[in-house]
Amino acid sequence: MRIGVDIDGVVSDSYPFWLQELNRHFGKNVSVITDYQMHLDFDIPKEDINDYFVGNAERLLSMPEVVSGAKEGIETLLREGHEVIYVTARTPAEKDVTVRWLTMKGIPHEHVLFAGFSSKLELVKQWGIEVFLEDYQVNAKLIAEGGVPVLLLDASYNQEELPTGIIRCKNWDEILKGIQAIQSKKVPKIV
Ligand SMILES: [Mg+2]
Repeated sequence: MRIGVDIDGVVSDSYPFWLQELNRHFGKNVSVITDYQMHLDFDIPKEDINDYFVGNAERLLSMPEVVSGAKEGIETLLREGHEVIYVTARTPAEKDVTVRWLTMKGIPHEHVLFAGFSSKLELVKQWGIEVFLEDYQVNAKLIAEGGVPVLLLDASYNQEELPTGIIRCKNWDEILKGIQAIQSKKVPKIV
């Protein structure tokens, strides 16, 4: 299958690092991110967070560790004959640091698509992606409503109830099982 994979929160363990850096920069003591819109937890204007991210993109995007099991999970998917296409909401300006990070961490990457502020669903459709791995509930919902099943990696900021078409996965092991389950339901192609 052709699998779309989000980067932040799915492959890059961005949020623990961002939490630490935002606490330091804004002099806060937030212990857990409960909303993907992080300015809500930090109780600061959205623009302040955006400005901070724009000014510190290099550091904020290059320092995070890899999500546990992500590298091995992607290697497994490729070994099983799946295609992996990264689809991130990062902007094209963040391409270099993103590709450098993937290379540095030894994570296989052929196609990395940068949605920026446009819709991930559009890229999902354009590239014929058959299943998507995501951590942001709003994107997950949008993609699932577009008819593409989504596996949502569990996080502190995505605890709302899920509509049909989205399966919550606790970790990458469950993601791999979810992919197998979705594939087994597909009608085999008759050659
Ligand atoms: Mg994400």
